[in-house]
This record gives sequence, C-alpha cells and structure tokens, in this order.
Amino acid sequence: AAPTLVDENSELAKTVHYIADINQVDLASIPNYKKGQRCEVCQLYSPIDGQPDQGECGIFTGQTVKAMGWCASYA
Ligand code: SF4
Repeated sequence: AAPTLVDENSELAKTVHYIADINQVDLASIPNYKKGQRCEVCQLYSPIDGQPDQGECGIFTGQTVKAMGWCASYA
C-alpha cells in the first residue's frame, strides 16, 4: 500500500509541531521557524518519484510529509 500522509493531529506530529502547509499558518507565531525552511529542503526529506508535493521523512517512518510542510526537527 502507498504510504499515507502524516496527520497533523497525530501524537508524533504534535510532538514535533508538524505543519502540513507553511502557507496556511502565521509563521511569525512559530518560535523556531526561519524563512525558507520547508520539508522539501530539509535533510531528513526524501523525494518520491512522480509525487512532487510530498516525500518521505526520517522522523515519520512509513508515512509521507508535504513538500511545503515543516516541523521543529527541521535540519
Ligand atoms: Fe519536514 Fe524535515 Fe520535519 Fe521531516 S524533519 S517533517 S522533512 S521539516
């Protein structure tokens, strides 16, 4: 089965403050956010062929995160 997208409301997502779309939130309200950060340019992100809007993340094993997502473990 294809991996499913991370649910923002799951326990792990909440723990790392995962946001599925940085364009939908007030970034000034996120203490550790720095301009330009997003999942697709994070070191823990692995692109998936044919799915430019999402990829795999080393934190969320077996699930996918949005390319325009972000979390507090950004590297
Ligand atoms: Fe996105 Fe990186 Fe956080 Fe994974 S670790 S959710 S790729 S910002």
